[in-house]
Amino acid sequence: MRAAVFQGKGKPLAIEDVPEPTPGPGELVLKVGGCGICGSDLHMSEQPLPAGMVMGHEFAGEIVETGRDVGDWKSGERVCALPLLGCGSCHWCSAGAVHLCPTLRGAGLGPVGGAYAEYVLVSARETFRLPENLPTHEGALVEPLAVGLHAVHGGRIRPGDDVLIIGAGPVGLATTLWARHAGAREVVVSDFVEHRREMAGRMGATQVIDPGAGEVGPAFERIAGRKPDVILECVGVPGVLQQVFELAAPRSRVVVVGVCMVPDTIVPVIALTKELQVQFVAFYERRDFGHTLHMLRDERIDPRGMITDLIELEQLPAAFEALRRPSTQCKVIVRP
Ligand SMILES: [Zn+2]
Ligand SMILES: [Zn+2]
Repeated sequence: MRAAVFQGKGKPLAIEDVPEPTPGPGELVLKVGGCGICGSDLHMSEQPLPAGMVMGHEFAGEIVETGRDVGDWKSGERVCALPLLGCGSCHWCSAGAVHLCPTLRGAGLGPVGGAYAEYVLVSARETFRLPENLPTHEGALVEPLAVGLHAVHGGRIRPGDDVLIIGAGPVGLATTLWARHAGAREVVVSDFVEHRREMAGRMGATQVIDPGAGEVGPAFERIAGRKPDVILECVGVPGVLQQVFELAAPRSRVVVVGVCMVPDTIVPVIALTKELQVQFVAFYERRDFGHTLHMLRDERIDPRGMITDLIELEQLPAAFEALRRPSTQCKVIVRP
């Protein structure tokens, strides 16, 4: 099959022929109908990872092959899946939190091939049917939406809370959507880039802040009349967490969603004296996929505005490189 293959740090992806996946027990093979390009793939491609890897973890498609013991899954069904393959029997897999499984393997996150390809391998246990009103390529949005939902769970947002979201990339936008959905009073989104702030408004932000125009803390207080109850950090670059600690209110909740892969300096006493509750979150649980699909089926959320481009697999290497530079893209979906 054709796939966009990682060639090593600093080199563009290349379209190559690679072996098709074969399903083991409890596994399915999907023909990929859509796969989102994710910022974390761009980050991964800047790490010294082995060449030959196929990324792509935000996908939906059609079942084309089933392994043994997959329950009632059949070829032809349109589905999406967590890109995570666990052991299926440990405490975490049983609890629906496969991302915490000690033997976790990730499709598109190494070592299992991802969906920048014609076919992808998934776990039947982590697979969900798409509702009829959701086109297959839009099913690729379920994964990034589930990231935002899991982050909002982590913040334990209650109706009437005032929420600050730092960063309006796809993760910040998904978090914005769910924070609003959770009944927050103000959902204020801070981002340096104007078109991202506009997108945040469309995804449910009640107000936006340009951190380039002045300090975020006072700007938030002018809007909400007080400091935030919950701050969700969706940037993941060094220094942001310390800024969050400095502007947070006593006993408020801080959720760390941004993926920072380098050392970052914090001054713990700032968080300590305020008794901040800091929650790190990663991925999502099975229930986050289920809830997201339910809300999409009932058209109670509309994230389609996040999709800014649809491309073919052959266009992926160039599109991937283009996303390293500032652009007006949000979510680019590849349709192999
Ligand atoms: Zn992603
Ligand atoms: Zn497990």
